[in-house]
Amino acid sequence: MNVSDGNAAAGNVVAALRTLLDPAAVLDAAETATRPAGIWRGDTLQAAALVRPRSTEEVAAVLRWCHQNAVTVVPQGGLTGLVHGADAGPDQVILSLERLRTIEDINPQQRTATVQAGVVLQTLQEAAEAHQLMFPLDLGARGSATLGGAAATNAGGNRVIRYGMMRDMVLGLEVVLADGTVVSALNPLLKNNTGYDLKQLFIGSEGTLGIITRLVLRLREQPQTHAMAFVGLDSFSHVSQFLRHMDRSLGGTLSAFEVMWQDFYALVTSPPAAGKPPIPQDYPFYVLVESQGADPELDPARFERCLAGAWEAGLLADAVIAKSEADCQAFWALRDDVGQVLNGGAPIIFDISLPITEMEQYTRALATSLAAQLEQHRLWIFGHLGDGNLHLSVQVPLADYERLRPVVEQAVYQPLAPFRGSVSAEHGIGLEKKPYLGISRSETELALMRTLKQALDPQGILNPGKILS
Ligand code: ZN
Repeated sequence: MNVSDGNAAAGNVVAALRTLLDPAAVLDAAETATRPAGIWRGDTLQAAALVRPRSTEEVAAVLRWCHQNAVTVVPQGGLTGLVHGADAGPDQVILSLERLRTIEDINPQQRTATVQAGVVLQTLQEAAEAHQLMFPLDLGARGSATLGGAAATNAGGNRVIRYGMMRDMVLGLEVVLADGTVVSALNPLLKNNTGYDLKQLFIGSEGTLGIITRLVLRLREQPQTHAMAFVGLDSFSHVSQFLRHMDRSLGGTLSAFEVMWQDFYALVTSPPAAGKPPIPQDYPFYVLVESQGADPELDPARFERCLAGAWEAGLLADAVIAKSEADCQAFWALRDDVGQVLNGGAPIIFDISLPITEMEQYTRALATSLAAQLEQHRLWIFGHLGDGNLHLSVQVPLADYERLRPVVEQAVYQPLAPFRGSVSAEHGIGLEKKPYLGISRSETELALMRTLKQALDPQGILNPGKILS
């Protein structure tokens, strides 16, 4: 249902919401249309109204009214998503968490942070550092992404291999349900085995089951050292053996294992990219490997010894170890320079997940299949190999983008089905991957998801059309 077939028109929605909140907290359609639709996007927001509540109670008041009046609501955080999970339409109300920006508590003994949902990821990272602690979620959009959004989408990023995804960092949540009921599950305990783990229902639900307003997050001890190397390898088999070698010999301190296929490495180390190649460009595979530890005396030597072991075992064709903080930053800058895929055409980007044992055959077959179907295209492959997560970017001519997009999507997604690969390792489903959800989820799983949606949001007012139709 939406505003036009409910009993309220857009103007009435604004007027009604202004009786619930401070009038300045409610933007009308014209005011909403002045705001950008996302950090990666050129268009602006569209909605009947955009509300900016200052408290959980105000979020609840808005949802209660929308529930009673069958008005649909799209929750928004930092608008850093990549799958159109926060898109709104002209009949809908956008509920932005941008004014819930308080870090309420950092408890160094318990190693927890209690935050409001609109706190920006980088703000919490810096606040934790002030206590010699770390909030380990890290991703390129750290300066805009909010913690509520990171939880609602179960964000991943660069250090999942060591610390897990957002799901693993959330101890407790406060959530407002579709009808305005506030569920406070602000558990601060690491172990709490008392019935259904309700927070997990909302993490990764992309705002379709409830709106997260407050989080209790697990903090970790801040690493005292980090060591990094950039290596070149001659075969995929060496890449997967190198992963096991490093994980085993680093004794639990492996913190990143990022792979680049040769074409991506060449892209980010050649003009117009600013990066310079730390090793020659002619190996088929490259890995950025990082270890975080606590002992400035022992850790660098151990890291070098582990690399030397890999070298002696014949796994590496080339390697360079970071000698300084500047080297580390330069290595990460290559990995993060994903914007290069925008040069010279329109990229279609993917974040698939599949068993490491299937990766080589899958990527070879994909290259063959794309070459057979597309005249002009580029394929770049990189990603979080240690997590089984590859990012693929397929660039096609801008003029052919709409026509070729479904062709490329089929070529990428269908071969994942036989081994239940994932159409989304970390970006989520939103609108973009909804047609392909059945590749990763069985009919019974999808039916249970619909049952949960129906139970928690019987009117379907929360982020309608996202994940499930
Ligand atoms: Zn990623």
